[in-house]
Amino acid sequence: MNTKDDCIFCKIVASEIPSVKVYEDSVVLAFMDIGPISDGHTLVIPKEHVEKLDQCRPELMAQVGQAVVKVANAVSKAIPSDGYNVLCNNGISAGQLVDHMHFHIIPRNTDDGVFNRWPAYEYPQGKAQKLAEKIKEYL
Ligand code: 5GP
Ligand code: ZN
Repeated sequence: MNTKDDCIFCKIVASEIPSVKVYEDSVVLAFMDIGPISDGHTLVIPKEHVEKLDQCRPELMAQVGQAVVKVANAVSKAIPSDGYNVLCNNGISAGQLVDHMHFHIIPRNTDDGVFNRWPAYEYPQGKAQKLAEKIKEYL
């Protein structure tokens, strides 16, 4: 787990390490992923160090969200693709390797094989309602 001080994305924000930038304002930065899973794979981050989505102030998330829309629009027009995924991994089990919240914008084409598996299953009777009640306790 990395802290703010050794955070690679904070270093990119501070231009201490290089990146290929596509969009920047006072709050948000978007840059090309160094290990793309499709051409045009772009990351959108808040400049402020926030580890996970649930730790992000709603006002900041609103600004990040606006940039995600803007960049997704540009990426989908610029890159030959018929779709895109927007992905925010939170926590190691969810595949988060960099502990600075980020949104992947991943251009997609039919049958590109980038994500093939969506392991959907059915809830037994009543389980969805039970889980929803539990979630609502924390809202
Ligand atoms: P995560 O697995 O945390 O959701 O995704 C982290 C992403 O950051 C990965 O797709 C990885 O390729 C990208 N990444 C990691 N280090 C760097 C870097 O130094 N520069 C850039 N541009 N991307 C990085
Ligand atoms: Zn950071």
